[in-house]
Amino acid sequence: MSTPPSEIEFDETAVTALGESFRGALVRPGDSTYDEQRRIWNGSIDRFPAVIARCAGVADVIAAVRFARANGLLVAVRGGGHSFPGLSLCDGGMVIDLGPMKGIRVDPEARTARAQAGVLLGELDRETQAFGLAVPSGIVTHTGLSGLTLGGGIGWLMRKYGLTIDQLLSVDLVTAEGELVRASEAENPDLFWGVRGGGGNFGIVTEFEFELQPLEPVVLAGPIFWPMEQSAGLLRFYRDWIAEAPDELMTIVVHRKAPPLPIVPAELHGRLVVSVVCCYAGPVEEGERVVAPLRAFGSPLLDACAPKPFLTHQAMFDPSFPPGWWYYFRSCDVAELTDEVIDITAEHAMRISSPLTAFPLWQMGGAVARVGESDTAFQGRSAGHTFNISGATETVDGFDREREWVRSFWSALEPHHTSVYVNFLMDEGEERIRQAYGAEKYERLKALKRRYDPGNFFRRNQNIPPD
Ligand SMILES: Cc1cc2nc3c(=O)[nH]c(=O)nc-3n(C[C@H](O)[C@H](O)[C@H](O)COP(=O)(O)OP(=O)(O)OC[C@H]3O[C@@H](n4cnc5c(N)ncnc54)[C@H](O)[C@@H]3O)c2cc1C
Repeated sequence: MSTPPSEIEFDETAVTALGESFRGALVRPGDSTYDEQRRIWNGSIDRFPAVIARCAGVADVIAAVRFARANGLLVAVRGGGHSFPGLSLCDGGMVIDLGPMKGIRVDPEARTARAQAGVLLGELDRETQAFGLAVPSGIVTHTGLSGLTLGGGIGWLMRKYGLTIDQLLSVDLVTAEGELVRASEAENPDLFWGVRGGGGNFGIVTEFEFELQPLEPVVLAGPIFWPMEQSAGLLRFYRDWIAEAPDELMTIVVHRKAPPLPIVPAELHGRLVVSVVCCYAGPVEEGERVVAPLRAFGSPLLDACAPKPFLTHQAMFDPSFPPGWWYYFRSCDVAELTDEVIDITAEHAMRISSPLTAFPLWQMGGAVARVGESDTAFQGRSAGHTFNISGATETVDGFDREREWVRSFWSALEPHHTSVYVNFLMDEGEERIRQAYGAEKYERLKALKRRYDPGNFFRRNQNIPPD
């Protein structure tokens, strides 16, 4: 944990001049909202920027970029502030905070939506679901649309409709020179390829344009719980069951101690459980038929898979990942759930100690895998499953122990790693970023970086250095 610098060197005249034309707010150390505004989702990260530029629009973003360049400031760009390693916060430099940019416009006729960079997933879902439409995105409503999209975007609807980037039609982006450009298949197609997985390396996206997909407001969704001791058997059954499942079905397996939520009976609270969380993005009756064999496996402790509004299901994990707790992650993709992978998983899951730790194991495939691996910068379309091994504690107490558990679990899986999803990386160094993209794509991304940001102005990210 860092401590506040006693004095942040800064050109006061210059910042006053910036403030005079800024439509949003400039927040500085000592301001009453500074501590609130520098806080990000992962409570284990504590950094002290010299200025937080809360942008109200594109003109503010351009002004902030030009100011930071002129003053040689390190820049961190913040969408929703959910980067696991806290890349949207920096010490001593400028945070360009897009949070106030909340504009959303849905065109139900054209089935498109435009969303500004400060939009959170739940906000976009609310606007699109008003028309029975959706942008496939992630599974926690307070996650930022920006960072999630720029890394790829995996979630409940991806097996039916693809990743979030697969819905992207265009972006508006402010470059390291402070120029606004548009990227789409027709305009700057190289940049459009790069922003679909390459993160914030090439500039600041101020607005996204998406194609929308039809989605009935009610889906068959929710978790079914078994005792954790049955994990190895359940996962073997699950492996065979999903092999035949249609793309409408998306599942996430979660190992954890049962949380004290209203849907969970009091006698289960704190008990180690394994759950399969389902979401069937199709007619409910069809979903019932598909899920029936899962419900019939063993004797579930709890079956909360039921018809419900998609928006309710989208918020299901919100209480499990609130802002402010201490989180640590290690991730990897595996090709399949072999007996060995299953046994490692079942064995390590039994050792979860914190009641707040809940690690998701994602089913991949479907529409994600039908897009060509080289069509976008995102890598790992052929992955069978994504492990997002996470440890959480409320404060620093117990954090080291949980982090060690995450590391040892991840290391045990190492012989089975294939790729890794860039949005699930911690601060793990250049070699891991290269692994996330694969050698060939990494070189292509480097060439793009040389073209759009040769000075590596945007480097507080999963960085692809230009040379
Ligand atoms: C609770 C939780 C749930 C999650 N669930 C999912 C999930 O279901 N599916 C999934 O795919 N991922 C998920 N993630 C991972 C998520 O995709 C990343 O954490 C992502 O970076 C979050 O985006 P953000 O805008 O909130 O992050 P930020 O921390 O604001 O930004 C993350 C990175 O993107 C850059 N960036 C952000 N906005 C812009 C922009 N407009 N232009 C240029 N660069 C930008 C930042 O500089 C930083 O490097 C989850 C994360 C959390 C914490």
